[in-house]
Amino acid sequence: MRYVSTRGDRTERRFCDILLEGLAPDGGLYMPVSYPQVDDATLTKWRGLSYAELAFEILSLYIDDIPAEDLRALVNRTYTEKVFGTPEITPLKTLEPGLALEALSNGPTLAFKDMAMQLLGGLFEYELGRRGETLNILGATSGDTGSAAEYAMRGKAGVNVFMLSPHGRMSPFQQAQMFSLQDANIHNIAVTGVFDDCQDIVKAVSNDLDFKRKYKIGTVNSINWARLLAQVVYYFAGWLQATKTNDEKVAFTVPSGNFGNVCAGHVARMMGLPIEKLVVATNENDVLDEFFRTGHYRVRGAADTFETSSPSMDISKASNFERFVFDLLGRDGARVKALFGNAEFKLTEAEHAHIAQFGFVSGASTHADRVSTIRWCYEAFGQLIDTHTADGLKVALQYRQADVPMLVLETALPAKFASTIVEALGIEPPRPAGLEHIESLPKRVTVMPVDAGAIKDFIASHV
Ligand SMILES: *Cc1c(COP(=O)(O)O)cnc(C)c1O
Repeated sequence: MRYVSTRGDRTERRFCDILLEGLAPDGGLYMPVSYPQVDDATLTKWRGLSYAELAFEILSLYIDDIPAEDLRALVNRTYTEKVFGTPEITPLKTLEPGLALEALSNGPTLAFKDMAMQLLGGLFEYELGRRGETLNILGATSGDTGSAAEYAMRGKAGVNVFMLSPHGRMSPFQQAQMFSLQDANIHNIAVTGVFDDCQDIVKAVSNDLDFKRKYKIGTVNSINWARLLAQVVYYFAGWLQATKTNDEKVAFTVPSGNFGNVCAGHVARMMGLPIEKLVVATNENDVLDEFFRTGHYRVRGAADTFETSSPSMDISKASNFERFVFDLLGRDGARVKALFGNAEFKLTEAEHAHIAQFGFVSGASTHADRVSTIRWCYEAFGQLIDTHTADGLKVALQYRQADVPMLVLETALPAKFASTIVEALGIEPPRPAGLEHIESLPKRVTVMPVDAGAIKDFIASHV
């Protein structure tokens, strides 16, 4: 398998070349030159596999520059009951006939980002070891991504993590998750500013090309193809659990922000997985919903990006969205480049109509919807869900079809977003065993000013 850019650069690269890179040199995102097709016999063969075996089969279709036995061992070490809590790894939780949650949030940080990040940690360690290189990951987080990255990279050889977060602005639980890590290669930096300040520092440091090269600065952001690929696996796993024969279709609803998760669903569907619909659910930050309804893509500025009770979806520029548009427009890199050169664009009517062939539909949800959906789900089915999953469930109900099971991806556990659960139900969500007293553990964090120079000095003196 080879990979090309969405913006017209047709230089073909291999998996391990793009693994450690961010954007393609022309500013585009990497995509496989074609989608491997999974036929009926293969689907039948996959019915009996464990999650790790299934992951190996799917990853092997896209990774041909890691020896099969090495890849198999890496995947087997990653998707274990010990790390993800159940032998199924992503079990379905049935709410009623034809409606289920797919549990993706039982990894170490209680959000679905662990599904991909845990694999990325293993792949980074493997490839850096093979090359005899090191990497210093610099990132900014307001919550889920930073903790998932730290738990994936902790103790890994050849990798250091420098994670910036806005001082005093994450929930006590989120702070405790990150700051309680005592691993020598994990560096928490609490910046006395807001999230945007943290992100600006990351940009400033990355734009200093001499510094970047000298200190081998890298990222783990959601445009990384390996992260997306890891997420393709649980669409297959969900379909396999929900069906008995290969002619049965299912629909997925995906609480969306950067469009990484649902883009993996698109890839699975393009490979031939029988997916009837991919339902994109947003919160009040509805850039994606507007696009799917109208064909009009309109990035919002910071002032028009709302802070909501499903904060991991508070995104106004969906960084993976370009991948789908590339496929929608027949892989016309020049046209993609022209469109994404602007903060907004409008598809032609014919192009907009073409979306239906890819199975996409969309909807949006509000704080009041989240609260009432959390309440309804608890009262009707005894299932406690988090705010992001509630956005998904609310929109999923708009698109149910009689003979098509609807699977809503559970993207986080309620323990992470306790205050809205208390608002909806008057009860504290339970915490997984071992995390009851996480706030009282010793913390390892350095508080620093909004000053890119100071952060550079800190990195230089800690590698
Ligand atoms: C990151 C995240 C999302 C959004 O996923 P994307 O891949 O960015 O669309 C939804 N819910 C939770 C809990 C998240 O952490």
